[in-house]
Amino acid sequence: MIELLPGREKQVVHTGDAGGKPAEMACGKNSVAGSVSQRACVFCGSRVVLYPIADALHIVHGPVGCAAYTWDIRGALSSGPQLHRNSFTTDLQEMDVIYGGEKKLEAALLELIAHHSPKAAFVYSTCIVGLIGDDVSAVCKRVEAKTGIPVLGVHSEGFKGTKKDGYKAACDALYNLIGTGDISNISPHSINILGEFNLAGETWILRDYYKRMGIEVVSCLTGDSRIEDIRRAHGAKLNLVQCSGSMTGLAKMMERDHGIPFKRVSYFGIEDMSTALYEAAKFFKDDPTIMYRAQKLVREEVAAIYPELQRFKQKLIGKKAAIYVGGSFKAFSLMRALRLIGMETAIVGSQTGDKEDYKTLQEMADPGTIIVDDANPLELAKFCLEKDVDLFIGGVKERPIAYKLGIGFCDHNHERKEPLAGYIGMVNFAKEVYASVASPVWQFAPRRVKRAALLSQTPLGDFS
Ligand code: SF4
Repeated sequence: MIELLPGREKQVVHTGDAGGKPAEMACGKNSVAGSVSQRACVFCGSRVVLYPIADALHIVHGPVGCAAYTWDIRGALSSGPQLHRNSFTTDLQEMDVIYGGEKKLEAALLELIAHHSPKAAFVYSTCIVGLIGDDVSAVCKRVEAKTGIPVLGVHSEGFKGTKKDGYKAACDALYNLIGTGDISNISPHSINILGEFNLAGETWILRDYYKRMGIEVVSCLTGDSRIEDIRRAHGAKLNLVQCSGSMTGLAKMMERDHGIPFKRVSYFGIEDMSTALYEAAKFFKDDPTIMYRAQKLVREEVAAIYPELQRFKQKLIGKKAAIYVGGSFKAFSLMRALRLIGMETAIVGSQTGDKEDYKTLQEMADPGTIIVDDANPLELAKFCLEKDVDLFIGGVKERPIAYKLGIGFCDHNHERKEPLAGYIGMVNFAKEVYASVASPVWQFAPRRVKRAALLSQTPLGDFS
């Protein structure tokens, strides 16, 4: 058993400890001070949601460090404009803190809009703006009147809550655009894809599936998106929400104000990918050909990848994995995808899961699995040692933890270059997991060398 930081006891459970029933977990609360949480700040939460809107200007009102921290953070691809890949900032300095940064922000916005002609601008408030009290909304209003494009304040002061509050700030800003475009020529069989960010081109894979089924994708929020499409999003008949932590709030607002129902889906793994397609087909039951096309698509795609997955399964069977991701819905899919290739999940956690999510995770997990909310590097490292995992699935902040411990790593977050969504994504996932887990490099990791030496009673040599 490992020691936890005081105050974190209710955010970690071992499945089975509560006598077979899921234990009630604490979650959705501020990180314990000094824990160096893996969770990002409010500002970062809003930035990752809005970043992929490719024809908008994104300006960080704050110190240059906040802008550098989130520069090109998603790695989200665009099929057209690349303006989103810049990280503009007002670079607030001491004098701005004393006298205020509103004039600087207004001048920066006017100059950048004149130079880049974006379709809209997002202005992100950071910690320091919350402290000095700049009226960002007033500046946005003035610049909007002068330039004629939407200029939207994102109220994402870093200290004011959790990453989830950043998602909400981003969705509030987005919602100002939805409902302002022409929806006259939208198909009766149309959807919006919410919470999909086009990492490594995943949005394009999904768009292709829906096109093959005869469904129009009005907008994707926000992977490879354009302001004009977002303005028309209220014309879709159904919202499919993938990253539930970030976009369920927006889906609920659209249901309330525009009558668009929503479904939670996931595009990772064969099971969840197929369910996502069938859910959409079931919704449009007035046209049975959509279901027929969905079934044909699933049959063809699964038949094409199944033999290769079986080959990986033979090599990976019995290996153990740790999962630590942003939203817990992704964790559900990853657990299922790992099972498909013969692997066990020994640790699973998220930054933003809620009580229901953690209950589901406990029900899905094998007895003794560690479930953790809002973890920190120390805990994750200790859990990995306790469970002796072969693979860590996480993001940029978890990669060094895995490598230092001599554990294989699979990036399932912002930085990856291979698509992991869809059927082709499942094969890529299996390939990446196998390549990392089976890499010969881990035999040279000090921890493994020491263990091998102990087992064989041979000297440690240079590795001691
Ligand atoms: S907004 Fe605050 S917490 Fe977030 S990166 Fe900037 S200074 Fe750090």
